[in-house]
Amino acid sequence: MILKGFEELKRFLEKPRNIVIVGHRNPDGDAMGSTLALKHYLGKKGHDCTVVVPNDSPDFLHWLPGSETTYRFDWQNSQSHRVISNSDIIFLLDFNALHRVGSDMEKTLEKYPNDFAMIDHHQQPDDVKYMYSDVTICSTCQMVYQFIEMNNDLDLIDADIATCLYTGIMTDTGSFRFRSTTSATHRIIADLIDKGAENDRIHNNVYDANSYNRLLLLGQALSNLQILPSYKTAFITLTDEEKKRFDFQKGDTEGVVNYALSLKGIIFAAIFIEDKEQKIIKISFRSKGDFSVNKFSRNHFGGGGHDNAAGGKSEESMEKTITNFTNLLSEYQSDLATSYEE
Ligand code: 5GP
Ligand code: MN
Repeated sequence: MILKGFEELKRFLEKPRNIVIVGHRNPDGDAMGSTLALKHYLGKKGHDCTVVVPNDSPDFLHWLPGSETTYRFDWQNSQSHRVISNSDIIFLLDFNALHRVGSDMEKTLEKYPNDFAMIDHHQQPDDVKYMYSDVTICSTCQMVYQFIEMNNDLDLIDADIATCLYTGIMTDTGSFRFRSTTSATHRIIADLIDKGAENDRIHNNVYDANSYNRLLLLGQALSNLQILPSYKTAFITLTDEEKKRFDFQKGDTEGVVNYALSLKGIIFAAIFIEDKEQKIIKISFRSKGDFSVNKFSRNHFGGGGHDNAAGGKSEESMEKTITNFTNLLSEYQSDLATSYEE
């Protein structure tokens, strides 16, 4: 755990400030939940806060309280520039390195003259002035709760803040099932329910918001699933053509990789999704036990994340990418064999 400059930050926040809160590109439940919760909290402390995200979040997060006030850097570019240049400090939430906001927004943040405060749970964080980093915590939302607690402000958590924080903890823990889910997580969740988070409504809004096409795309993904039992590995591919056929919308492939990991005996899963526009294959990796997909992705696919959930990309064709991936597995055969005992 790294906690740097937070006493100074507390003093800095004694006066009302203009604050921008940034989440990563392709914001997920934890990015949207944490940025919006912090906005609501700091707003209650008398600050003027704006959330700026690089691009849109999936539809199933648009109901989050305050979501409609968020600026998208790609869409509301001049408004985003204006709030950034008027801000006294920028909070960076749920990401560890500036490049995670995408190259356009990264260029703007690199020129930012004031200080950054990072609250994040990814490995190897960039060094910024104020930092709360803990890779053992399941979600940035749990860290925002703990940040509010450090400031002795838990009584400021209202139903909106509780709803945002619950959502991010739920999505980043796979609904409270990953190893990172601790008794502390459950205590925090209990407190958030007491403070007004409606758990059944949140689960419904996030997980039962499928379109028919999304289910058909899932069907396609499952029929593309390949299993490599000797490596305890399974992977899924989705081509651009398949995405188009089922009217792919942002967020439609979220969680699909977990179906590969749900197979009995499989401890390493990947999904390869072709993105013709960006000319890349976007990859999500998931694992069970000690096999670190963060390291695997860093070493071979220019990405990273956490030990059991990471992302990366390939600039080769789908075919070549899959060949490279399967060829790599033999190097890891003994790690894969011993990673997880059922
Ligand atoms: P997902 O597979 O759901 O996109 O991402 C899983 C985890 O890996 C998330 O914590 C995400 O922030 C991180 N991640 C995804 N893609 C990348 C990437 O290209 N680079 C890095 N460093 N992290 C990534
Ligand atoms: Mn997160």
